[in-house]
Amino acid sequence: MMNRKDFLKTGLAAGALAAAPAASSAASAAPAQASGQTADLEKYRFHPHHRFSNDELVIEREQQGKPHAGKVLAAIQPHCDDIPIFAGGLVAKLIHEGYKGYLIRTTNDDSAGAGRTRAESMLNDERDTAAVAEALGLERVYDLSYRNHNLDEINIKELTARFVFLIRSLKIDTIISYDPWAPYDNNPDHYITARAVEAAYTGRLDYPEQLDVVEPHSIRERYYFTRRGPQFINRIVEITSHIDTKVRANMCNVTQGPAGQHGRRLKQQLAEKGMKLPILGDDDETADFNYIKHFVLDTDSEAQRLTPSDREVGRPFGLEWAERYYYRGPIPSTIDDYVSKNAVRL
Ligand SMILES: [Zn+2]
Repeated sequence: MMNRKDFLKTGLAAGALAAAPAASSAASAAPAQASGQTADLEKYRFHPHHRFSNDELVIEREQQGKPHAGKVLAAIQPHCDDIPIFAGGLVAKLIHEGYKGYLIRTTNDDSAGAGRTRAESMLNDERDTAAVAEALGLERVYDLSYRNHNLDEINIKELTARFVFLIRSLKIDTIISYDPWAPYDNNPDHYITARAVEAAYTGRLDYPEQLDVVEPHSIRERYYFTRRGPQFINRIVEITSHIDTKVRANMCNVTQGPAGQHGRRLKQQLAEKGMKLPILGDDDETADFNYIKHFVLDTDSEAQRLTPSDREVGRPFGLEWAERYYYRGPIPSTIDDYVSKNAVRL
């Protein structure tokens, strides 16, 4: 296990992180082992959006087969584009590895996106959200339909109780959400949703009236992301095999956000001036796909989505594409091990 001080020391001294003995909660997760130049690591480590937490930095690699069969995840977003932008790779990876998943959207997006009227924007956003769920392989969408950009007017207890009910009824094991404690996110929908998610980590006797229809059930794992730093980071998730699925999920958000059909629009604007960008290809779908993969998720990521490039996040660890999270999971107890080694006959 490597704490933050050792992590920094090793990186500074050697320019690469030494392997450490495995002590992780998932089979695919291994302590960080980076490759690359010292300069890259320095840039990565002191990036304003990254602060490594004091616990072990873990690389969660892609796995073969269905190691997560039987587990259930909820990807929770205030707006139709949040999960695709920030966690589309992780969701696609976990679904591919056997999870069953659901998409929960807390607002109705009525203040954002294209449409001749507010109601038409809402409808377009609702359709985009359904398409995102399908692109990521999720079972269905729960639209909680609070007013867009006004989530700080609600009683957070109500939202928490709705999450608790969904966690119990769907038997959700794993949550993917905005980080509830990341500062400098100016959008109340983001931080209120995240804090309600965090508060939904409740005991078995909470909300007793629900227990007439659902069994007690608790979250075991949480992956938190943010769009502005600083955020604690303790997990790098490899998404190389799933980057194209992430791109396709982002293509679904045509009503709002930095992705959607911006590629074909740029292609059209250039064509009107008698020009073209080779990277955008010759048809609209290729233009949208390549625009998102090259600009939104990579070279213009900071401007487009206020977060580092998925390519840059993976680079110090020898991964082609990666996302970064603050992960909270079960801490294995040492008591059984102690008992097996130390118990003696009466
Ligand atoms: Zn949002």
